[in-house]
Amino acid sequence: MKILIAASEVVPFAKTGGLADVSGALPKALEAMGHEVRVIMPKYKCVDEEKFGLKPSRLSPLFFNVPIGGKIQTAILKSSSTGKNIPVYFVENDKYFNRDGLYGDAKADYPDNGERFSFFCRAVLEGLKTVFFKPDVIHCNDWQTGLVPVYIKTLYRNDPQMRNVRTLYTIHNLAYQGLFACQILDFAGLDRALFNYHQLEFYGKVNFAKAGLVFSDVLNTVSEKYAQEIQTSKFGCGLDGVLLERVKDLYGIINGIDYEEWNPSTDKYILEKYDNETLEGKNVNKQNLQRVFGLPNMDVPLIGLIGRLAAQKGLDILESALPSLIKQDVQFVLLGKGDEKYEVLCQELSVKYPEKFKVQLGFDVPLSHQIYAGCDLFIMPSYFEPCGLGQLIALRYGTIPVVHATGGLADTISDYNEITEEGQGFSFEEYSSTQLILTLERAISIYQNRQRWIRLMKNVMNLRFSWQNSAKKYLKLYEKICNSGL
Ligand code: ADP
Repeated sequence: MKILIAASEVVPFAKTGGLADVSGALPKALEAMGHEVRVIMPKYKCVDEEKFGLKPSRLSPLFFNVPIGGKIQTAILKSSSTGKNIPVYFVENDKYFNRDGLYGDAKADYPDNGERFSFFCRAVLEGLKTVFFKPDVIHCNDWQTGLVPVYIKTLYRNDPQMRNVRTLYTIHNLAYQGLFACQILDFAGLDRALFNYHQLEFYGKVNFAKAGLVFSDVLNTVSEKYAQEIQTSKFGCGLDGVLLERVKDLYGIINGIDYEEWNPSTDKYILEKYDNETLEGKNVNKQNLQRVFGLPNMDVPLIGLIGRLAAQKGLDILESALPSLIKQDVQFVLLGKGDEKYEVLCQELSVKYPEKFKVQLGFDVPLSHQIYAGCDLFIMPSYFEPCGLGQLIALRYGTIPVVHATGGLADTISDYNEITEEGQGFSFEEYSSTQLILTLERAISIYQNRQRWIRLMKNVMNLRFSWQNSAKKYLKLYEKICNSGL
């Protein structure tokens, strides 16, 4: 099959979260199964042209036209590659993408995000024409690509180069929807008639995620449990009604991780490489991590947290749990970047508990590898979590996850059973600081039994959440929409 993956971030070129991991790894898995895959994303300032050898696309003219905002604007299509031979196209336009950050900064989103990503969606379709690539499926990801399916079914409906092109829309996180004033439709060149409850309107705004949900041929999200949860008002972020209407087209496919990138026996960022036969190496990484964070070198459970600092990630229950947890012999290290409110909170906590709670604010890939390798436990107390990759990466490094049983965390981590020694980590059902405390205490008590802990580490390091399985499921969805004679 011919597949185009359109995404606003892709590993290794630009990343703020799990979406980039998925759009970097899925194409490789599909290519390995013999399919023709290409990827398209914006050319942000942070994309390193030299490192990735970006050059104007061979087939494309230097500039191509993007009719948007009532005029013809131009873009350049540059290309690089990933995997064995997967072309990655970059839509370059200085006005929209040559600035710091992807969507804004810790303080606020960019005010012109509606224009930036309408432009991107339109440029995806115009860009395809310039390289003469007609995919069977355009795989869209989150709100930044939500207008692609709308364009296909409206402005491009009679365009021979887009005829029979099907769309899949993947929800990576329903909480991010791309809401804009209705004038954005004029900018995007879309008919205002679409501004109605059944199509793009959402509480008086245009909703790009809803656009994707309504206009795509098939939908999925990144775990089965989250696919169920978003059909409820508790987790549906106001779109549960739309999803219920499309429930027969909604699937859950768990993400994998890239086991070449996340491998403690080859990881170039960690001090001592190790596998499940040489677990002493993990201890060297622990001591190094303690040194890096200025923690005393002690044999106590070292607990890590890495993530976007957002309300979703459970920092509120962690804050309430800390006074009790910190009384124990434990150490915490936190690496994160995100909302100003939570960055301030994390800094305050590190001042309050200077001996035991250390924080590094920022996005730091090498340090993230060192934390996965050096910690004993990895906490993800998320209020909701579509899939979660941190817990899967932690498993690979023998770092035991402690999670709130929601979304993908519930689908991937079952609670440790002290009698059978089954389970991949420690999990709690009720979202509360009390449950977080009790669960961490349980984990810490198991940690004290070294032999048991070693068995648990060895077990989880052997688990594989590989992309092969998930890519097969994506392929089934692509085939389903291509054969459906829509
Ligand atoms: P989300 O997509 O909600 O951000 P996921 O758990 O799905 O969360 O994916 C997060 C990914 O981003 C993981 O690969 C994690 O290691 C990485 N990550 C998150 N925050 C940071 C950070 N501050 N520095 C480096 N990597 C980070």
